[in-house]
Amino acid sequence: MIGFKNRKISASQTMQIKKYSIPESTLVYKPNSPFMARVISTTELTEADSCDEVRNIILDVSGSGIHYIEGQSVGIIPRGERETGKPHKARLYSIASARTGDDGSSTTATICVKRVFSKDKSTGVRIPGVASNYLCDLNPGDSVALIGPNGRRFLLPDDDSTDLILIAVGTGIAPFRAFIRHIFLEKGFWNGRIRLFYGIKNAMEALFLNNKNDDIGQYMTQETFEAFRALSRVHNEDEEKGYVQHKLAEHKQEVWDMICAGNFAVYICGLKGMEKGVDEVFSTLAEQQELDWPAMKTEFIKNGQWNTEVY
Ligand SMILES: Cc1cc2nc3c(=O)[nH]c(=O)nc-3n(C[C@H](O)[C@H](O)[C@H](O)COP(=O)(O)OP(=O)(O)OC[C@H]3O[C@@H](n4cnc5c(N)ncnc54)[C@H](O)[C@@H]3O)c2cc1C
Repeated sequence: MIGFKNRKISASQTMQIKKYSIPESTLVYKPNSPFMARVISTTELTEADSCDEVRNIILDVSGSGIHYIEGQSVGIIPRGERETGKPHKARLYSIASARTGDDGSSTTATICVKRVFSKDKSTGVRIPGVASNYLCDLNPGDSVALIGPNGRRFLLPDDDSTDLILIAVGTGIAPFRAFIRHIFLEKGFWNGRIRLFYGIKNAMEALFLNNKNDDIGQYMTQETFEAFRALSRVHNEDEEKGYVQHKLAEHKQEVWDMICAGNFAVYICGLKGMEKGVDEVFSTLAEQQELDWPAMKTEFIKNGQWNTEVY
């Protein structure tokens, strides 16, 4: 039983989720013996005049024995050394392709990488992030040290009647692109509903969901799948400004109904800052019904129904 402030909900209303299993045959590479993958292609996903640059990088992993599944990530070790003379630490990147890769050969893995910079507080100098700039500067044919695949929990449920609530900002869309491509391209169907809430700065940065690269949007013809974009910086009057939590709040009744029905899984991916706003939407809904949201969430996490990957 989950404890609420004034009432209880029976255990039958929450359920342990069985996730997809990771193939036993997959080989996992560690930092001291990475696999040298080769860059097949690197293309810009963002449009030319957008403020950020995000690149779609397709890696050749043939001969590695890696069999990743949707929701896993790979680690990349940037070339070079830290100031201490030690090798750079690996950074994780969600795999944006479904298990057969974007070409269906099962020998490639796609990642989407945002080129990051930060400002030195005292000097105002822009400091490039080590791994993201290294990756965004790679050319086709270059080799890159790869570890993993990593991740055993941010995986799709086995039961395809589960309602999926996918919430992303920015490059957090990557694992959901893998989910959607696996479901509609490789598997062919999903019986539960799929709702994707996606927060970005502007339409030019809607990775995989923009005019140039309408990669996920094409599956919205499927009656089970709907996607909603929130734009935080709007440029014309017919666009509405908002963050991902506002889009979620617009559809709160449907989302809450899915949660109350019990057969659901929530996935949250992207920048750390997104979690608070998303949590507030759910906690407000729970409060209105005098339910104890922290207790519910704890139970959902335990069940594998609440999955978060933020960075
Ligand atoms: C599970 C998971 C999945 C992820 N998936 C993705 C993904 O799909 N796509 C993606 O783009 N990212 C993803 N990330 C984030 C990614 O791992 C890196 O953290 C990100 O690319 C930044 O790494 P970096 O090496 O470029 O920056 P770092 O060098 O690690 O630096 C981090 C920040 O600090 C700044 N900085 C660096 N050096 C200094 C300094 N000396 N002084 C002040 N500031 C400094 C950098 O400019 C940067 O903004 C994911 C993270 C996790 C944990």
